[in-house]
Amino acid sequence: MAHFLLLCGRIIMSKTAKRNVFIWIFIGSATLWVSACSSWIGKVNIFPVENDVALGQQVAGSIENDPTMVIIDSAQNSKIYNYVYGIRDSILATNLLEHKKDFVWRVRLIKNDTIQNAFCTPGGFIYVYTGLMKYLESEDQLAGVMGHEMAHAEKRHSTDALTREFGVNLLLELIFGADKAQLLRIATNLAQLSYGRDAETEADNCSVDWLYATSYNPTGAAGFFEKMEKEQKGNIPEFLSTHPNPGNRVQNMKQRWESKGKKVGNTYAERYKSMIKLLN
Ligand SMILES: [Zn+2]
Repeated sequence: MAHFLLLCGRIIMSKTAKRNVFIWIFIGSATLWVSACSSWIGKVNIFPVENDVALGQQVAGSIENDPTMVIIDSAQNSKIYNYVYGIRDSILATNLLEHKKDFVWRVRLIKNDTIQNAFCTPGGFIYVYTGLMKYLESEDQLAGVMGHEMAHAEKRHSTDALTREFGVNLLLELIFGADKAQLLRIATNLAQLSYGRDAETEADNCSVDWLYATSYNPTGAAGFFEKMEKEQKGNIPEFLSTHPNPGNRVQNMKQRWESKGKKVGNTYAERYKSMIKLLN
């Protein structure tokens, strides 16, 4: 896996090098960024979208070389991986993602039952902890959380947040130069990255909108919040980190679902429970 990533990294770096001149013209100007899943507009991101995948590739490489992160081997665990890929593909098949084709949307499972979290790098490298998968009760809930995390990449919240935290120049340098220590800092901070209220609301809205176009219960992510609220335990995942009151977010997701026409979807709870046993 690491070798494959390194190889891809080199290919992407040589491609991006050709775009070097373009990038530096791009910096200093700004891209007007319009949101499709919510009504707030006018966000400015000076990190060029063409480089999101290259940055995500570097961060993913760093995550997967970190000995504290145990990635479940995708070749030896094809059944559970194909199941999770199927959930991802249902979301992508809605054709509601602007970056469906140019982002990677690769999923990797992290073996750690104590962390109930998931996150996504810029460019769409999705990571889901086994602790989250075992905590959730049905497939629509996992689809809802994955939709939420994919929205942070699709809407470039992760790139925004990393740009705020590290600066656009450092991020671009990492793509070309790969400072290992800095990459590791980014990789280890990614799961705890603070996106802010507007970004969380937008990711929740995307999750509802995207699942609405699938056969899933569209408010699957809300089911996760409700369970967390009811039980009040476990690590605080990225979802809740910026919001002390998940109740408002459940209400927002349900309102959005109602305004779209209250279509009822499937939870696929039985199928989910039998698949999750594969993680034991
Ligand atoms: Zn979030």
